[in-house]
Amino acid sequence: MKYIRLKPGKEESLLRHHPWVFSGAVASLPKDLEEGDIVTVTDSKGNVLGTGHYQIGSIVVRILEFGADRIPEDFFLRRLENAFRLRQTLGLIREDNNCFRLVHGEGDFLPGLVIDIYGNTAVMQAHSPGMHFARHRIAEALTLLPEARIRNVYYKSETTLPYKAHLDPENEYLVGNYDGNIAIENGLQFNIDWLKGQKTGFFVDQRENRALLEKFSRGRKVLNMFCYTGGFSVYAIRGGALSVESVDSSLKAVALTDANIALNFPGDPRHTTHDEDAFKFLNEMEADKYDLIILDPPAFAKHRGAIKNGLIGYRKLNTKAFEKIKSGGIIFTFSCSQAITKEMFRLAVFSAAAKSGRKVRILHQLTQPADHPVDISHPEGEYLKGLVLYVE
Ligand code: SAH
Repeated sequence: MKYIRLKPGKEESLLRHHPWVFSGAVASLPKDLEEGDIVTVTDSKGNVLGTGHYQIGSIVVRILEFGADRIPEDFFLRRLENAFRLRQTLGLIREDNNCFRLVHGEGDFLPGLVIDIYGNTAVMQAHSPGMHFARHRIAEALTLLPEARIRNVYYKSETTLPYKAHLDPENEYLVGNYDGNIAIENGLQFNIDWLKGQKTGFFVDQRENRALLEKFSRGRKVLNMFCYTGGFSVYAIRGGALSVESVDSSLKAVALTDANIALNFPGDPRHTTHDEDAFKFLNEMEADKYDLIILDPPAFAKHRGAIKNGLIGYRKLNTKAFEKIKSGGIIFTFSCSQAITKEMFRLAVFSAAAKSGRKVRILHQLTQPADHPVDISHPEGEYLKGLVLYVE
């Protein structure tokens, strides 16, 4: 076993089960340590704090097992069983819902690993070299969860692993193969493109927020900005919207949205798509045309250094929507930037409201769903924020 010793007094956060060891806390690293190795971390006196995956960077170890100097043989199976039981408890595994997040990294005590389930296919992303090296064991453990009925495991880490590690991961099936790509969320069907789509192919994290939007849709003219797979649009149509327009600057996203509308509501004349830049669209659109607008952009601040510009982006985007929405309209506005706190986001939206001169009330404060749990020792796991606003 290889050991990393911490500097005196640097063990506090590990004793409270925060799973990250920062490079500044380390007193000595063994010479033969390689990225992805299993390593045991001790305090300055040599007492064992935990064991996890080593990697080069500001986070040097992600702890898998606290208070132990080894990882048990059946570690992945046990953690996956635990994760699966939680999703059963949450009532997410049903005939009319076979699409959910099974593993949300630190939130499921599996730092560096994300697994989304789409019917019989699990799509897995490694964010650390250690998880990359463990991929075959994880894939096998997934097939050993009897009630999950996972037949295929697709590994998709080409863009999630640190490129300096030179792991050159290939996106590939580790188990099974392609056998269809339609998943069901709350009774609605979606084509999931895990081969070419963003992330694991679908934003599972907006499920509850889409369901809430459905309840607001009746009789409204809906504008879904940054539509990607058209998730919000499909729910809005089911909710009885008068019309739904979906906007995305990616042609592929617009095609996916069209396909998902056609899958659920073939030939429905209420839906149209626009392959356009969101800011340009908002600038040029008529005022008072829409009375329900969804703003779900990509993360504007991907790291702490980008917070300031990110907040400017959110303010601009929301100002445009406030300026144009019909009186009595509703805005669903989101930020998925981890670096931006809910207070910062709310302040950016408040500044936008003030700038537009509209009177705005908060109806709901939204977050990520329960299949994206946050380990209470690891507040960094919280990332999705949303507000439902009523605009006079
Ligand atoms: N709301 C979606 C997820 C949005 S992901 C859902 O529920 O699934 C962000 C989307 O924004 C991507 O599809 C991306 O193509 C699109 N996008 C990024 N920049 C854009 C821009 N400037 N204008 C319009 N769309 C943009």
